[in-house]
Amino acid sequence: DAKQQGRNTWHWYEGDQHRGTEEAVVLRHDLHTALQEDQFELYYQPIVEAVNGRIRGLEALIRWHHPERGMISPGVFIPLAEQTGQIIPLGRWILRRACQDAAAMRAEDGLVVPVAVNISSLQFRREGFLADVQEALDDAGLPPELLELEVTESVLLDGAEQAITLINELKAMGIRVALDDFGTGFSSLSYLRDLPIHKVKLDRAFIQDIGTNRSNAAIVQGIITMAHHLDLTVVAEGIEEREQQQDLIRRNCDLLQGFYFARPMPREAIMELPGQLPSTVEV
Ligand code: C2E
Ligand code: MG
Ligand code: MG
Ligand code: MG
Repeated sequence: DAKQQGRNTWHWYEGDQHRGTEEAVVLRHDLHTALQEDQFELYYQPIVEAVNGRIRGLEALIRWHHPERGMISPGVFIPLAEQTGQIIPLGRWILRRACQDAAAMRAEDGLVVPVAVNISSLQFRREGFLADVQEALDDAGLPPELLELEVTESVLLDGAEQAITLINELKAMGIRVALDDFGTGFSSLSYLRDLPIHKVKLDRAFIQDIGTNRSNAAIVQGIITMAHHLDLTVVAEGIEEREQQQDLIRRNCDLLQGFYFARPMPREAIMELPGQLPSTVEV
């Protein structure tokens, strides 16, 4: 029906340029066996406390090691997996692996920080999602406080009320939800008020030129101030330079994430990091 069509069309956003290409056809096909053939890996990127660089969280970011094409970016294949429906089994695998990894890092390495998992809107809205989350936690023996879910405002597309109900249910299970990529797309400030989230992640697009673009700096400052009035934690994504770090500290941003601190890396590499980042620069 028309509603279904509209929803699917909308989900092609990032993958549009690949959708009709030969590459997309091949990749969509290859996605079907990739899970069985163990071609996916979860990388983790630290999220640090702005004022002292201490690691306060990890974001799980999926990687696909394609047998012929090498590493393929999730920006390319996640939209394809959404088109084919593969995102459902893949999303379940991601949740389970992230919970297992978080439990292992806690037990074996003493790293007790929440792991954030990106959830596709299709996965989020699907019946049985909450049961999948609970099962992933139970099977890994992970306390719910150590799992965080990142959703984007696209979860609101099929109705805000349903999304609010789901996030409240997650909250009741002890799991926190962050609003990812805030400021892009259809962001409305009222989402910050209406959604029972605990954290908002400022999109990298605003951070990139924060030192030179006064409008972006003003938007960032406005979001941080308002989010704090609403008792939300603010994370800035895509910090690549010391100037951006300093700027965001001045603007009272709580948490920072970006290549300046650490790139996404395999779990074993995370354990080699010092507790405070960047280790070579004075903060
Ligand atoms: P996202 O959730 O906003 O993740 C942040 C992206 O920014 C990641 O790209 C990360 O590698 C990148 N990044 C972090 N710091 C910097 C920086 O300083 N500079 C630059 N240029 N980039 C930085 P990645 O891993 O390629 O993922 C892209 C997107 O794909 C994610 O954006 C998310 O929307 C999606 N994605 C990734 N992993 C998953 C997953 O497990 N499940 C789902 N559903 N989506 C995922
Ligand atoms: Mg994210
Ligand atoms: Mg993001
Ligand atoms: Mg993004």
